[in-house]
Amino acid sequence: MLLTQEKRVALISVCGDPAAEIGQEEAGGENVYVRQVGQTLAQQGWQVDMFTRRNDPEQAAIVQHLPNCRTIRLSAGPATYMHRDHLFEHLPEFVDQFQRFQQREGVQYSLVHTHYWLAAWVGMQLKQAQPLVQLHTYHSLGAIKYNTVSDVPAIATQRLEVEKACLETINCVVATSPQEQEHMRTLVSKKGRIEVIPCGTDLDKFGNISQLEARQQLGIDPKSKVVLYVGRFDPRKGIETLVRAVAKSSLRDQGDLRLVIGGGSRPGQSDGKERDRIGGIVSELGLDSITTFPGRLDDSNLPFYYAAADVCVVPSHYEPFGLVPLEAMASRTPVIASNVGGLKFTVVPEVTGLLVPPKDELGFTTAIDRILSDPAWRNQLGETARQRVEIAFSWQSVAANLGQLYTSLLAQATAIPAKSVVPAAIAPKKDRVA
Ligand code: UDP
Repeated sequence: MLLTQEKRVALISVCGDPAAEIGQEEAGGENVYVRQVGQTLAQQGWQVDMFTRRNDPEQAAIVQHLPNCRTIRLSAGPATYMHRDHLFEHLPEFVDQFQRFQQREGVQYSLVHTHYWLAAWVGMQLKQAQPLVQLHTYHSLGAIKYNTVSDVPAIATQRLEVEKACLETINCVVATSPQEQEHMRTLVSKKGRIEVIPCGTDLDKFGNISQLEARQQLGIDPKSKVVLYVGRFDPRKGIETLVRAVAKSSLRDQGDLRLVIGGGSRPGQSDGKERDRIGGIVSELGLDSITTFPGRLDDSNLPFYYAAADVCVVPSHYEPFGLVPLEAMASRTPVIASNVGGLKFTVVPEVTGLLVPPKDELGFTTAIDRILSDPAWRNQLGETARQRVEIAFSWQSVAANLGQLYTSLLAQATAIPAKSVVPAAIAPKKDRVA
């Protein structure tokens, strides 16, 4: 029988270190989600341990965020950055290290919430060795991702199998939008339990700075029309579409238009290729004088950039949820986003911003020009955006909903012990029995 412990949960995010610097290489929404959910659950009385892979020998093994919330970095493969497509073969070591950690600490987690398919596999393995309730959040679905990229990686088959087995066998999958839930049902499996709990944002961090104040702080002319992108440099983010859309804007000739493209690593890191490619397109289109690349943004300047912008553009080819639009909306900045995935859930067209088909350069140009040429409407969209976020998307309500789900799943599991089997075919090759 499953032992009910106090309110204790392990969040496992193999490649999304919650204590990492956000915005560079692959560190983005997953890292923010895990850290915010972890810290907020801790504030609501949970004992939260967040497990990730150590990817730098200099990193601390344990980062204590709050007295009852910490990040624990486990060794799995070399202590260096590795692309997530190459991590699967190191997962048995991650499972082993997790089990050793439990032994050392004298705890056995009854509840794990896993993030991204690599951690789903870890959770399913753990579930074979100890009584466990497992929840999972995909953050990205292979079935969708592989439709939007030209070079499908060798790991694709494995990933699709793990994502299917996860939905069908674990206790509950958490979808972050009704759109993601629908995709799971149509593209992954009809079986398995799904609950929809959206992502959140920090209502205190964003929305407390006026546009004028933010522009003074950042040295941006109050008369400028500022179009903002925030996020990782990844071709799927569609930054190229935004740059080409801005190049076609009718406001370009009036001299006030500014494009700010925030995010990205220090030189030499893996996202540099896309950063250079985008820089090349900016130059080729003659936009150098109106474009700035402030680099990775952090808590000290991110709220200022959102507040300084007239509009935030999220031109992703696909987005399961998208934290950036919520942050912009919390900052009273309307959002123009691709009409895909979770963006259709957060952005209400004509009410909090506009939606445009992905890759539709002219569509983005029209949307940008519409909002920038009508300041009163722009402000109204921004106010409604803030209201929408206040009502539906605080981390407190996300954590409270998750906490209730955890508690009810633990209670059910105590009554009926769950069984889970990971099909042998989806074990890393070196672990398969011949
Ligand atoms: N982010 C940041 N600094 C940057 C770029 C991005 O802090 O320079 C954060 C951004 O504020 C958001 C997250 O990274 O919280 C990106 O999440 P989103 O869901 O929009 O995209 P993902 O990275 O998951 O694809």
